[in-house]
Amino acid sequence: MKILVINAGSSSLKYQLMDPDSGEVFAKGLCERIGIDGRLTHRALEKDIKVVRDIPMPTHAEAITAVLEILVDEVNGVVKSVDEIDAVGHRVLHGGAKFTESCLIDEACKQAIRDCIPLGPLHNPANLMGIEACQKIMPTKPQVAVFDTAFHMTMPPKAYRYAIPDEYYENDSLRRYGFHGTSHRYIAKRVAKLMGRDDLKVINAHLGNGSSLCAIRNGKCQDTSMGLGPLAGVPMGTRAGDVDTTVAQFIANKYNKTIDEVLTILNKKSGVLALSGGLSSDFRDLEAGANAGNEKCQLAMEKFAYEVKKYVGAYAAALGGLDVLVFTAGVGENGPTIRRMVCEGLDFLGIKLDEEKNQKRGEECIISAPDSKVTVWIIPTNEELMIAQDTAELSK
Ligand code: AMP
Repeated sequence: MKILVINAGSSSLKYQLMDPDSGEVFAKGLCERIGIDGRLTHRALEKDIKVVRDIPMPTHAEAITAVLEILVDEVNGVVKSVDEIDAVGHRVLHGGAKFTESCLIDEACKQAIRDCIPLGPLHNPANLMGIEACQKIMPTKPQVAVFDTAFHMTMPPKAYRYAIPDEYYENDSLRRYGFHGTSHRYIAKRVAKLMGRDDLKVINAHLGNGSSLCAIRNGKCQDTSMGLGPLAGVPMGTRAGDVDTTVAQFIANKYNKTIDEVLTILNKKSGVLALSGGLSSDFRDLEAGANAGNEKCQLAMEKFAYEVKKYVGAYAAALGGLDVLVFTAGVGENGPTIRRMVCEGLDFLGIKLDEEKNQKRGEECIISAPDSKVTVWIIPTNEELMIAQDTAELSK
């Protein structure tokens, strides 16, 4: 089977053509600058080909057309015709409380995604554009929506409710939803397989440019650090993470900014980028800076690791113990320094890293010491595989 996985953003669209059973990726790439001019970067993995082409992409439809054209291209392609693609899986940011799992896309599903636009105003419209472009160009292919929020719908009310007046929950559905759900679900499944059991208390630390932690019991989400939107939780590349809302009020009043402008500051100009004095949102740069004696870079890394550590403690308490701690995503998979800083001093929770094993990068492996009560893993995440597997299952 060959599944096309699409992750559409407002001006970009990532894709992978893959086998949902073996996980083999035949081709992958990125359309950028949609609505501006348009650029396609495409890789055909087995042929070891990478091409970059400027192609006009006024809308997502032209981007999808360009993707399909290059997938069937004699030189750069990986299939003979579009008929070889069995179905299309779409990453959709916000499924609200309605979607507890992935769904085959029909008019009702599209309407429900549309209804969630107030909850995911930046991403859901782009996700819908990706879906509609695919439906237009491949009308006979089954399309599946896989929601970033769905895995978190097993949270109990005490985890997902905000302590704000009831009407905002009853009338407006304001609550914690959480994100990176497809990644957290992949890790939950993978941990159960690797440990040979699923009755586990697991904390998954998805640490990338965006970061979230998830408390998982028996394979189900109990709590997660992101909230109504992806701004909450630990500091991220450019997002502030948890900040007293009084900060937003202060900035708005003193600097005469609208709430949207303040939110742009908290989403795009904050996080470790801000703490490093604007130097970088990339942890490789921060580490190099800290090693060269830059105190702001050092603080950025310390603040990030400290907040992640606090969530580990909080979620161990919420779960009533801990069997497994997982590090995943860009920083989690590739950042020994951050992993060490997070785990330092957590011996009392039964977390003891093996410093040598912790030097590993991007490899599925245990990095805890043999006498660590908690097993600490690096598990490279694979959201695309989850999307492809759900799509294959639902389009049968
Ligand atoms: P992601 O959002 O999961 O793609 O993660 C991207 C982030 O991973 C980048 O911003 C980097 O900060 C981080 N990253 C990637 N490689 C490394 C590395 N070798 N060491 C530390 N951080 C890394």
